[in-house]
Amino acid sequence: MSENTETIFSKIIRREIPANIVYEDDLALAFKDVNPQAPVHILVIPKKPVAKLSDAESGDHALLGHLLLTVKRVAEQVGLENGYRVVINNGNDGGQTVYHLHIHILGGRPLAWPPG
Ligand code: 5GP
Repeated sequence: MSENTETIFSKIIRREIPANIVYEDDLALAFKDVNPQAPVHILVIPKKPVAKLSDAESGDHALLGHLLLTVKRVAEQVGLENGYRVVINNGNDGGQTVYHLHIHILGGRPLAWPPG
């Protein structure tokens, strides 16, 4: 997979392709995953096109904190009071397929551990 930071998620941010957006602010966007792996499967992304977590820099510390607090906010918004899983796939071995940093929120059913 290409690590070019121009991805399908950039197009979603710019509203060039449709997505089911559940939250937006100046720094972040959250939308439903097109291929859900659980009853609730939402992606939280920065508007800044950081390709992957391992590319984040010290100057991104506030942004990364904001993304996690956005996860909490969105999980509350969609009613995941029984809990949920937060996943960041990083790079090839991490199973990352879209090279725009994203945090998966998975919930709505009990989730097995460990993942594959
Ligand atoms: P990754 O494997 O990189 O961690 O996760 C990428 C996720 O993006 C996958 O769960 C995939 O279903 C989702 N995805 C890929 N393309 C689109 C799209 O065009 N729209 C939405 N809403 N999700 C997408």
